[in-house]
Amino acid sequence: MRINQDHRLTRVRRRDSPNFDARPDVDDISLIVVHGISLPPGEFGGDEIEALFCNELDHPQLLALADYRVSAHLLIDRRGRCTQFVAFDQRAWHAGESAWRGRTGCNDFSIGIELEGTDTRPYTQAQYRKLGSVIRAVLAHYPRLAADAIVGHLEVAAGRKTDPGPAFNWSAVLRGAAWLPDAAERPA
Ligand SMILES: [Zn+2]
Repeated sequence: MRINQDHRLTRVRRRDSPNFDARPDVDDISLIVVHGISLPPGEFGGDEIEALFCNELDHPQLLALADYRVSAHLLIDRRGRCTQFVAFDQRAWHAGESAWRGRTGCNDFSIGIELEGTDTRPYTQAQYRKLGSVIRAVLAHYPRLAADAIVGHLEVAAGRKTDPGPAFNWSAVLRGAAWLPDAAERPA
């Protein structure tokens, strides 16, 4: 897996979201934000997450979300299948009101990766494997990304967001990613 000249992962399914705009500084890609999402909440395997990111949501239980304009660069489903919705050099709309190391507006300078899941049910090994591959690829491609700049949504939007939740096992990511030096120090 690598990143091509269009800022997309090779050999990854592509589905274009209209929910993106230009980064203020296209050279500043310096943070990875990991999320968890399921739609309807707690259910896996449907196409509602994809529909949400593409403004095509028509599920009767989810009409309250239909007007949201959100996206992420990537979604990794329970089977480990990865879909790219926004090119990495564009700004996806995933973090909302957020701050990291004193900077607000994390969408400006981050890559957003959604995992299909909930805060409390274990994520799958297939997801950890694919996430590890993705992280290695983006770290290799974007020079301002560093191994200590990979956070959960809750870490940049504390008090407002909880994903990917206590079910997310940072150690499982790190096992497949020996390049991360501070495995023992990651939050649970
Ligand atoms: Zn999130």
